[in-house]
Amino acid sequence: MENTRQKILIIDDTPANILIMHAVLGATYQTFFTTSGREGIKMARQELPDLILLDVMMPEMDGYEVCRELKAEPLTRRIPVIFITTMSDVEDEMKGLELGAIDYIIKPFSPSIVNARIKNHLDLKRYRDLLEKATNELDEKNQALNLLAREDALTGLANRRHFNEVLESEIKRAVRSRQLVALILCDVDFFKNYNDHYGHVAGDKCLQAIGQLFSGTFKRSGDLPARYGGEEFAVIIPDSPPGTALQLAEKLRQGMMTQALPHAFSAVAGVVTLSFGLVEAQPTRERNAEWYINRADQALYRAKESGRNRIEASSDNF
Ligand SMILES: [Mg+2]
Repeated sequence: MENTRQKILIIDDTPANILIMHAVLGATYQTFFTTSGREGIKMARQELPDLILLDVMMPEMDGYEVCRELKAEPLTRRIPVIFITTMSDVEDEMKGLELGAIDYIIKPFSPSIVNARIKNHLDLKRYRDLLEKATNELDEKNQALNLLAREDALTGLANRRHFNEVLESEIKRAVRSRQLVALILCDVDFFKNYNDHYGHVAGDKCLQAIGQLFSGTFKRSGDLPARYGGEEFAVIIPDSPPGTALQLAEKLRQGMMTQALPHAFSAVAGVVTLSFGLVEAQPTRERNAEWYINRADQALYRAKESGRNRIEASSDNF
C-alpha cells in the first residue's frame, strides 16, 4: 500500500493552473485533470481519486455545482474535495465548506504550502480507508463469533442460550398464529456411569453421536435441536401437526438403539438409550417458555421413573 501512488483529480477551466498543480504534485501523486466540471464528475466516478482539487470559477458548471453533485452520489460522496479559488471572500469559503469541501486553497499559492496541505489530507484519507477496512473485518469476525456463540461446540447443535431465545420467540409467534408448538426434552440413560467407566473422551464421542442423530432427524427448517445441558438434549418443533413430536421422539429413541453404542453399565440395556419427555400445546400467555420446560421436564422425570428408554408426554397435551 505504501508503494501505490495516491490519485489526485484536478478540475480547473484554466489549463495554466492545471500545469502548475501538475508541476507541484505530479512527481508524488498520480494526477488526472480536466477543464470541464461535467467531465470532472465523470472522471471522479471512473477513477475514484483520493482527492479532488476543484476550481470554483468555471463556465457552464461551477465548482459548487460540481461539489454538490459529487456529494450527492454515494460512489463519490466520500472523496475529499479542496476548492481552489482566487476569491478570498469568507462567505464563498463558507459556502464551499457547507457543501462538504474539506479545505480551501487561495490563488496565487505557494507550491510548498499546497504540497503540505494536500499531504495532510491524503494521509488522513489513507488512515480513514485503513480504519474502514479494519472495521469491516471486525464486523465479519463479530458475525462469525455470534454464530459460534449460538452453537454448542461439541455437538454442533444449538446451545442452551440460542435454544432459550428461539423457544421464547416461537412461543410468542404461536400465540398470535394459534399454531401448536412442541417441545421435546431428552436425557441419556445412565450417562454418569458411561463417563465413569469409559472415560470423558468416550463420553464426548457418545454425545457427538447423539448430536448427529438429532441433526439428522430434524431437517425441517424451523425445527431446532439443541444441547440443553451436559447429557440433556432438547428440540423445539414449531407449527407441528398434532402427534409429530411423539413420532419424531420415537424415531430418535429407535435410532439410538439401532446405533447400538455399547453401554455395559446401563441398567436398561447393553447399549446407550434415551429417555424423553414431551409437551405439545397451543401457547397462550400462561403457557409460556417456563411452562413448556416445566411440563416437558415433569414428563421426562416420569419416563425415567417408569424404567427409562421411553417417551412420556405431558398430560397437558392439546
Ligand atoms: Mg476558473
